[in-house]
Amino acid sequence: MSRDASVRRILLADADAFYVAVARLADPEGAGKAPLLIVGGSPEHRGVVTSASYEARAYGVHSAMPMARAVRLCPGATVVPVPWEACARKSREIGAVLRRFTPVVEQASSDEFYLDLSGTEQLYGGEPLAATARRMRDAVMAETSLSLSIGGATSKLVAKLAAGLAKPRPGGAADGVLVVASGAEADFMLQFALADIPLVGPKFQQRLARFGLHTVRDVVRHDLETLVSWLGEREGTWLHERAQGVDRASVEPNREAKSVSRDETFATDLDDDAALAARLLSLADRASADVREAGLVARTVTVKLRDADFTTRQASRTLADAVQSDRAVYAVARELLTRLRAARRVPARLLGVALSQLVRTDGEGQLSLLEAPSNPLETERDRVISRMIDEVREKFGPDALGRGGARQR
Ligand SMILES: [Mg+2]
Repeated sequence: MSRDASVRRILLADADAFYVAVARLADPEGAGKAPLLIVGGSPEHRGVVTSASYEARAYGVHSAMPMARAVRLCPGATVVPVPWEACARKSREIGAVLRRFTPVVEQASSDEFYLDLSGTEQLYGGEPLAATARRMRDAVMAETSLSLSIGGATSKLVAKLAAGLAKPRPGGAADGVLVVASGAEADFMLQFALADIPLVGPKFQQRLARFGLHTVRDVVRHDLETLVSWLGEREGTWLHERAQGVDRASVEPNREAKSVSRDETFATDLDDDAALAARLLSLADRASADVREAGLVARTVTVKLRDADFTTRQASRTLADAVQSDRAVYAVARELLTRLRAARRVPARLLGVALSQLVRTDGEGQLSLLEAPSNPLETERDRVISRMIDEVREKFGPDALGRGGARQR
């Protein structure tokens, strides 16, 4: 590792088989003893697999697979629901241990944390980054009983890919920590498919395939000008940089936003209250997901309505206790919409939901907010479940879980 002070030292710490591991800890006698373990779905085996043990994966079971199919493939498996609260608690515990090593921690999902240790060389007496990562891994194991894989590099992109390779697998040689040295990024990238690069989704992959681009090796054969001529300035440059392991994004422990809003202009004006309520539900759902993703809670909910004659009206309510669950946001938004419709009942062109007076719940604050005494509009359970559902949807697609189902739990 170079001692150059300008070289960034970034780690990505990712819990191994997080949902399975937490389910085992939460139920040591049942799930904890079942080698063939599938986590997810409902007791009736509806829904999809959130995670499966390595042993169950050997039967072809994988995340996002319909549970009914998973149970057919692996008939002896023990199936348990995701222990949402235990997962949220473990996630906070991991974050707390990691923050002892550096304050610059960005939680990317319930079990993924980026850390920036740039400038800590002196603090750690010149300890190599891999050695710091191993101490971190040991501390998390000792205090949470969960195992982490940690990738290290000069960028978030390369650290993330390194963590994937560091993951211990049955029969594999990886020991949980892999650090890519400064200067070795481009060579390291050559082993990956483009689909392995974050943000290269199925649609982008199809577009790239039309130019014969499937792997990083395919990309580095072409110069920037060629990639730009195929993909446009923005995406061509982006791919050219990623293929060489270049990613300037910084680890951001604090994200700021003044308000978050979602609105929809209708193809044809809507006058039906039930149809407007259905659109409002979807807007409240998306706006609250944005707020949660940013690690925030909102005190003010605003509904905006643009009438067919372009008159724009809005109504707001500021709450004593901040909210972030879709259930609570929708409940308030529904009252506001009813008020606006009662005042003037004409067909609507546009409907919007905005959340403002945002307060951070990241880091230490999250603990106190989540454990704060009762908010009449929103329980800790509402929040935890909303956030977990966001992650499952992000990983497995928007249909993996319904909000309706979540509300009934
Ligand atoms: Mg993980």
